[in-house]
Amino acid sequence: MKAVAVFPAPRSVKIIDVAEPRLAAPTQVKLRMLDVGVCGTDKDICAFHYGTPPPGFDHFVLGHESLGEVVEAGPAVEDLRPGDLVVSTVRLACTDPGCAPCRAGHYDFCTTGKYREHGIKELDGFMTEFVIEERHNLHPVARELRDVAVLVEPLTIAEKALIEVREIQQRLPWGGGPHRAVVLGAGPVGLLGTMVLVNAGFETTVYSRSPKPNPKADVAEAIGARYISSQQVPIERMAEQVGNIDLIYEAVGAPQFAFEVLKHLGSNGIYVFTGVPRGEKPVVFDTERIMYNLVLKNQAVLGVVNAGPQAFDDAVRDIGVFAARWPQALRAIITGRYPLEGFHDLVMGKAGGIKNVLAVAEAA
Ligand SMILES: [Zn+2]
Ligand SMILES: [Zn+2]
Repeated sequence: MKAVAVFPAPRSVKIIDVAEPRLAAPTQVKLRMLDVGVCGTDKDICAFHYGTPPPGFDHFVLGHESLGEVVEAGPAVEDLRPGDLVVSTVRLACTDPGCAPCRAGHYDFCTTGKYREHGIKELDGFMTEFVIEERHNLHPVARELRDVAVLVEPLTIAEKALIEVREIQQRLPWGGGPHRAVVLGAGPVGLLGTMVLVNAGFETTVYSRSPKPNPKADVAEAIGARYISSQQVPIERMAEQVGNIDLIYEAVGAPQFAFEVLKHLGSNGIYVFTGVPRGEKPVVFDTERIMYNLVLKNQAVLGVVNAGPQAFDDAVRDIGVFAARWPQALRAIITGRYPLEGFHDLVMGKAGGIKNVLAVAEAA
């Protein structure tokens, strides 16, 4: 069968032939890959910024945003049958007995760095035809969500952020409202984050580069968010228009822009970083103003990476909620479907659009 493989040493990415895998334990499930989403992480790996093969190998299979169909389940798997749709966890816990988060099932908070990630770090990914996975790493998805369920994994980032935000904002037990959120960036992580925040009752503004009209602004406005272009409206004016900003959800990975906006976080506000900067040159910040605000406005700043089981459960639930509430806007996030052989333009970033997907197979 075919697989898209990354060879870090010679810096090459190509389709290779590999043997079709077989079940090797009663708790395993064999999946036919249906859709695999492509994101900035895949592009970074294909630019050889990071990405590690399993020990003893010179390559690994790319892809971490998956939708698979069960073709065979081991005898110990009681709740999955051929034809069921599932999304796989990306990160697997480390095996260090001293890693308290991993031992508690919160592998997304691993402290040893010895976790493995499908298609990223020491584990093959999903840009291939068949995959074997342990049952406990799989999250079943309803069959009606076949065309959008590949968005579950990127949605988990916002779901994890919302879990964290709710925990932290329990420090504000008096309620009140409206709670105002600003989402930085209108890529898939930003738009899915906007859906999570609008659905959670936030009055949400998307602040992103491109002027209107554009397809990303259309999605934001279709779900009831406001869209403001950072090319047309400077940060100060955007902040005035919004009012007290209770939450900023960063999804651009650009440090200078992200920290400029931090200066405008409101009283008791919380700022969530999700983007990974690409090693740009150091930039100068108004640390005086940022520190002053952090203290005098009781602000909290945090980063979130990856997602744990609760965030996956929430994402599976919410992809169904969004499909019912905003069917067209949710589908509009997926702007291209390509065959496995078309991976090159997607991982090299030549294909435009919002979320591009490798459509590996049709469901049986
Ligand atoms: Zn991704
Ligand atoms: Zn760990």
